[in-house]
Amino acid sequence: ACHRVPTGPIETTLCDYETVEAHNDDLYTHLKDLVKTPFFKYFRVDLYRDCPFWQENGYCMNRECGITTMDESEIPERWRAAELSKVEMPSEDQRHNLPGCYYRDSDFCFLDDMSEGDYIDLSANPERFTGYAGPSAHRVWASIYEENCFGLSEYNLLSSNSPNPAPVSLPDSMSDLLRGDGGESKTCLEKRVYYKIISGLHASISTHVCHEDMNQTTGEWGPNLQCFINRVAAYPERLQYIYFNVVLMLRAVSRIGPYLQAYDYCGTGAHEDDAYTLDKLNQVIGIAQDVGKFDETVLFRGENANILKEEFKAHFRNVSRIMDCVGCDKCRLWGKIQTSGIGTALKILFELDEKALDPRLNANLLSRSEVVALINTLHRFSESLAAVNVFREMWAEADEQE
Ligand code: FAD
Repeated sequence: ACHRVPTGPIETTLCDYETVEAHNDDLYTHLKDLVKTPFFKYFRVDLYRDCPFWQENGYCMNRECGITTMDESEIPERWRAAELSKVEMPSEDQRHNLPGCYYRDSDFCFLDDMSEGDYIDLSANPERFTGYAGPSAHRVWASIYEENCFGLSEYNLLSSNSPNPAPVSLPDSMSDLLRGDGGESKTCLEKRVYYKIISGLHASISTHVCHEDMNQTTGEWGPNLQCFINRVAAYPERLQYIYFNVVLMLRAVSRIGPYLQAYDYCGTGAHEDDAYTLDKLNQVIGIAQDVGKFDETVLFRGENANILKEEFKAHFRNVSRIMDCVGCDKCRLWGKIQTSGIGTALKILFELDEKALDPRLNANLLSRSEVVALINTLHRFSESLAAVNVFREMWAEADEQE
């Protein structure tokens, strides 16, 4: 199972693995160029908020956990905090405030307010092996999976609409939590989708860690096949969920396509730069229209659909806050970007109707950070699939040599 390309339909989507495979090279090529453009590579994020759920002491002292920040003067003027906060901050009555962050009712994650944080060039801080591991990392993953424990019966026990989420209680053992898809037949579709998204994200991070691994003895960087087998390939469903996430993100990009095409990417003032960014984006949107066959209308239907959706949202928002508990700066950075990117995709799929998506009617629908997070997250997932191909080749070579 380890080296085979999955075939057939991707469960709960209208797409198959072959279609994703056929387009991923192109998709990855365009995304790789896109995330190097000024609009998509500069990101402002507050990485130093306290963990709201437990006392976090597990700070990673490894050099690779660190990130390089930028001085504000290096950022095109119109993307600096002072400018952004003028246009990006929703009004006081539209947002629920917490120190340093907020959410609007339609959001699936907490967003940083723009008054705090560092500027980061994402292209200079790639997600890769950092050495962050052990109880701190496991506790974060366990808490994220625990947010999957929702269902209508639990609704009244949870403070879903509260801006202060209930503390995450930790499980006795990871195996209790990570019991796979949780009895497919008994579990509601929304819960399965939640699990796939998280497990797919986890598998994608593991793929990056294994693809850009550092040999602890020689200090050399390179792909580590055994690492990938142990963490991802030995569990074929984990790999399948990366494909699932690609389709989900592409569906969101396809839905928001006209809005993205009308967005202003001008930061440097050079017309050619903006035309280049838009051209690359158009290529990605074109692929998204062909491959993003996720049918969001099958979720959150029927009786109590709205309650279930609010609960799903509240749990996903908690995941975005759990990111403040990640004890490694670079991992926290990418954890925040990716939960924000997925949260933006979920908002596009489940909160916005066609009218809301119309760029003429709703010009401030997404903040710049949400657009940047959406595209960078899709890039990460697409990059993981490209890395999987490298591992398949390594596997085939190793097979031949035996
Ligand atoms: P872990 O990956 O920690 O997994 C813990 C347990 O979860 C496993 O034992 C298994 O039972 C289960 N599990 C594993 N994968 C899946 C899956 N896909 N689906 C379901 N269950 C699963 N490390 C880096 O080197 N670089 C990074 O950029 C980085 N970013 C991170 C971002 C976040 C948000 C977090 C929480 C951690 C990050 N880490 C990063 C740490 C990394 O994810 C691992 O935790 C670490 O490498 C230790 O790995 P492990 O083999 O002990 O298992």
